[in-house]
Amino acid sequence: MAEIKLSESRDLTRIERIGAHSHIRGLGLDSALEPRAVSEGMVGQASARKAAGVILQMIKEGKIAGRAVLLAGQPGTGKTAIAMGIAKSLGQETPFAMLAGSELFSLEMSKTEALMQAFRKAIGVRIKEETEVIEGEVVEIQIDRPAASGAASKTGKLTLKTTEMETVYDLGAKMIEALGKEKIQSGDVIAIDKASGKITKLGRSFARSRDYDAMGPQTKFVQCPDGELQKRKEVVHSVTLHEIDVINSRTQGFLALFTGDTGEIRTEVREQIDTKVAEWREEGKAEIVPGVLFIDEVHMLDIECFSFLNRALENEMAPILVVATNRGITNIRGTNYKSPHGIPIDLLDRLLIISTQPYTEDEIHKILGIRCQEEDVEMSEDAKVLLTKIGVEASLRYAIQLITAAALACQKRKGKLVEMEDISRVYQLFLDLKRSTQYLMEYQNQYMF
Ligand code: ATP
Repeated sequence: MAEIKLSESRDLTRIERIGAHSHIRGLGLDSALEPRAVSEGMVGQASARKAAGVILQMIKEGKIAGRAVLLAGQPGTGKTAIAMGIAKSLGQETPFAMLAGSELFSLEMSKTEALMQAFRKAIGVRIKEETEVIEGEVVEIQIDRPAASGAASKTGKLTLKTTEMETVYDLGAKMIEALGKEKIQSGDVIAIDKASGKITKLGRSFARSRDYDAMGPQTKFVQCPDGELQKRKEVVHSVTLHEIDVINSRTQGFLALFTGDTGEIRTEVREQIDTKVAEWREEGKAEIVPGVLFIDEVHMLDIECFSFLNRALENEMAPILVVATNRGITNIRGTNYKSPHGIPIDLLDRLLIISTQPYTEDEIHKILGIRCQEEDVEMSEDAKVLLTKIGVEASLRYAIQLITAAALACQKRKGKLVEMEDISRVYQLFLDLKRSTQYLMEYQNQYMF
């Protein structure tokens, strides 16, 4: 059973690891915010990365809440990659929510509710709490009677500090830490020296010694108090406004956080929460951390969504909005007006626009190299050059996709290194957009209209 679990979890990690942008670990900038040629999985796109770096700095300094950035460029020029780079550089503390424009129309809730939830997922609240920490309290740990078998004794040092909330398990974890890699197993006997706080793992062999009987089958270990009780420690919890909404939404309950099935959240719930959070902020108990909301395919939003965005950005807690599109001048959805990127002029006006440029052959070659590494695929230089040509002719994304397929073809012929023959094999098996369109045009009579 345990083994099955293990392999399942390995599979999951693997799937995640080879996600389309898994190789992106940041924006690849140096301390002066200059882009390094190849760094943190990022290649080329220097000016866009530099601009993203400036935005990142502004976010970190809290100077950009409520502002918005547009990443505009042709398909496959790294817009999503740059947004991921920003997210990775922000670290865990800053919330990052991501959504594709088309998702808004497929969820079981109104589009504005979906947008509202996305906004609130990108607003963090740091709640500070004072907890009483009692130092030097007497700690009692019960240990089962050890089984007989030989094991050497190990020693380590630990000062036990307990809080009211700490359980014996927490203490157990601390002991494991104190004893280094040495694991404490059931049956092991551990003694704590009252005077020095020194922990000794006596091992199972201790069971055979007469000393054990003297200590009784349920040995209690005590660390002596070394001073008066002290009150201190500030505990900080970081949550998002959306998480608070869900937990307080009577219809949903907190389990919805795990299933993602949150449904619509009533306006009154949100209002109450906003009032509460405002109170906490006044009392210095909470801080707002505006995060980043990334909306891909922003041209898929309609005029109602755009006016929602305009309004939501006015809110003082608003996150920074990063949107991306690969469209030029096109209709604003829900209207007959055309506009650059299908975005209304009033919203466009408040956007900082970063444009991404098509890649050179050399850059495509480097990106493909990084992806091969990421997917643990060994490829001959000839094959990489051929794949690069395909990337230039068809698209970078198509070429990236051929990596896994070519590796499978190589595996099938029991090869170790992906060669040109594997690339051309999968190139023939899977059509890219150009060839697929060509095919459709040739055989269109045989398709349904
Ligand atoms: P679309 O407009 O179609 O959504 P996009 O501009 O968002 O495209 P991405 O999805 O970011 O393009 O890029 C396609 C693939 O190439 C992804 O796997 C991405 O991680 C990778 N990629 C793009 N640019 C870079 C880069 N500069 N460095 C490393 N990898 C990159």
